[in-house]
Amino acid sequence: MKYEGMIFRPPSEADSLILQVTVGCSYNRCTFCGAYQGKRFRIKGFEEIKEDIDEASPHRIRRVFLADGDALIIPQKGLLQILSYLKAKMRGLDRIGIYANAKDILRKDVEELKALRDLGLGMVYLGLESGDSEVLKRIKKNATVDQLIRAGERVKGAGILLSVTVILGLGGVKGSQVHAVETGKVLSEMDPDYVGALSLMVVPGTPIEKEIEAGELVLPTPFGLIQELEMMITNCRFTHCFFASNHASNYLPLRIQMPEQKEEALKRIREVLRRKDPDLLRPEYLRAL
Ligand code: SF4
Repeated sequence: MKYEGMIFRPPSEADSLILQVTVGCSYNRCTFCGAYQGKRFRIKGFEEIKEDIDEASPHRIRRVFLADGDALIIPQKGLLQILSYLKAKMRGLDRIGIYANAKDILRKDVEELKALRDLGLGMVYLGLESGDSEVLKRIKKNATVDQLIRAGERVKGAGILLSVTVILGLGGVKGSQVHAVETGKVLSEMDPDYVGALSLMVVPGTPIEKEIEAGELVLPTPFGLIQELEMMITNCRFTHCFFASNHASNYLPLRIQMPEQKEEALKRIREVLRRKDPDLLRPEYLRAL
């Protein structure tokens, strides 16, 4: 497999074949994100992608994740070509996952997304980051709350699983409560199949690092982040969702089936907040992106 630069994938795609179909992120301006710094965005040519699929196809592959940052930006014709070839070459394949941003999704109509689903696209990972409009503007998310909700609805409407990422700490100390509460509410409106909560880790060289150095953004303490998690979950009302804060960036890893385990999880979080014992948290040296 020919990979260019660092490759990122969601934790739940750990066992998937990572097929790099784009390089970098077409947007690449979210202030907190250092994932694709220095990578010039391009869509790989089909011949390059085909070679990787041919190389991997003799192996038994159940899942494929299409990298990099927002591979759904590939025009429909190109995506259909990639997915059709994957389907033809990998008989045991049961799911293809992809990162997408709201605008990539909204550029496609439901019928186009359904055509991708019919060829195996089974999971779309969408970064909401925050349900607070002010935070979205400050982090230059390039999408409004309304667009993010509509994008999530469109994915679900096409019968594709929706996984949404949010980031604790993005509101800073001042905006902590609004960020947590609004994110919980927007998540409830999106009603995704999966939620992944991360904690902000400051990547050197990103604009958010400069905001912090200038004192414009003050990050919550570890227990402040857990308080946000508590407020967020309190405001989440889901039909059926697996909510995970087990990403390596988090101080308190949780895996919660909602709504069944919501109250039990809140009880645990509140107990941690009451005891404020640092030994209950993931040690700083084990945190990672
Ligand atoms: S967060 Fe996503 S959309 Fe924003 S720059 Fe990073 S990869 Fe691109």
